[in-house]
Amino acid sequence: MFDAGTRTIVVVGAQWGDEGKGKLVDVLAERADWVVRYQGGANAGHTVHIGDESFVLHQIPSGILHPNVRCAIGNGVVLDPETLFTEIDELVADGIDVEGRLYVSDRAHLVLPYHKLVDSSSSASKAIGTTGRGIGPAYEDKVARRGVRVLDIRQGNHLQPIVEAAVAHANAQLAAFGCPDRASVEETMDLLDRLAPRLLPLAEDVGLALHRAQRKGTAILLEGAQGSLLDVDHGTYPFVTSSSTTSGGAATGAGISPRSIDRCLGVVKAYTTRVGHGPLPTEFQEPLQSHIRKLGNEFGATTGRPRRCGWFDSVVVRYAVRVNGLTDLAVTKLDVLDTLDELSVCTGYRVGSDLYTEFPGDLGALETAEPVYEVFQGWRKSTADARALGDLPTPARIYLDRIEALVEAPITYVSVGTRRDQIIGL
Ligand code: GDP
Repeated sequence: MFDAGTRTIVVVGAQWGDEGKGKLVDVLAERADWVVRYQGGANAGHTVHIGDESFVLHQIPSGILHPNVRCAIGNGVVLDPETLFTEIDELVADGIDVEGRLYVSDRAHLVLPYHKLVDSSSSASKAIGTTGRGIGPAYEDKVARRGVRVLDIRQGNHLQPIVEAAVAHANAQLAAFGCPDRASVEETMDLLDRLAPRLLPLAEDVGLALHRAQRKGTAILLEGAQGSLLDVDHGTYPFVTSSSTTSGGAATGAGISPRSIDRCLGVVKAYTTRVGHGPLPTEFQEPLQSHIRKLGNEFGATTGRPRRCGWFDSVVVRYAVRVNGLTDLAVTKLDVLDTLDELSVCTGYRVGSDLYTEFPGDLGALETAEPVYEVFQGWRKSTADARALGDLPTPARIYLDRIEALVEAPITYVSVGTRRDQIIGL
């Protein structure tokens, strides 16, 4: 996708996350100079398979697996320093050198142990089905202006009152939740003291570095986590994540101008999945549910939680095309559908006597929505070795053509397996 006129690309999930963004980012990173994460925390869990090895990265951009790529964690991310250091150590143990090419925004907020404690004791977190990694409470502190940013740890006396306010708030929450544990100012200050010598050398004004890189015509890839339907504004609120997962969030979360983004690639599965609670109008019934889950290995990379699966929902993806301004689509996991006799694509929702063809903001409507389907013939043939659209069986091409027309965005890539080379469109 990178060419003379396309220097900054954003990759977003266009469903509920886990669409296979990691693979697309990995493939595109081959031509990138920078790969930047712009939102979310250490709950993302991209899986990248290289040869026989598989890497699961929660905090570091997966572009790090390419030796000449510089990687940055943007200001929009909430950074878990302990996960960051564990990942750095694991990468180094696997022979991947990160020295001098991994940067952390000095404005990124830190996820600290008290955030995890609050997350795991909060009944609200359980109701949403969060990963319990403190991401939500860290974003809450950010918005409530009591967060600890990377740059705050440069000066101990400046840091102390920030930590005191944050710990007091966390302890009030823990008491309200009936949790006997308490956060401690002293322990938090000690932890930050221990982390500082390793974290501060990575700290950078990432927005400025990217701006300078853009002026030199550098190729920049902005890597989203989760999916558009989990965006705090545009997702199925309140069953959403705490950050802006859509392309608008890429600009704020990386610290660059929205006008500097040239193209926006939305990644979608050839069907639909979602983890945790909240509406999923096209959700399969058993036994199809377990069958597709097994075929697609639909278990979370971070938590191992089984994902809920359903038919491709064109209402959802057309909405994602609109809110992100998607210029391109990548359809992944087409191979997972290879053995089915018949497939369905949702084209609208029937709610009472109304037919919805645009995604509603009202959760009540979604909960009672009855999907309207178009049915397609299965191709019953392996697509794993297809490397050009012409290699795909005709019913698979009919399926993809119809998706393209329904969602109103061109399909630029089709992924047909976990390996780097199992892709059409390069
Ligand atoms: P991400 O968070 O969007 O990167 O998604 P995950 O990494 O959580 O999930 C994607 C999973 O699907 C990974 O295990 C990938 O290796 C796998 N995957 C990606 N593309 C394909 C594909 O085309 N076919 C199959 N079978 N698996 C794929």
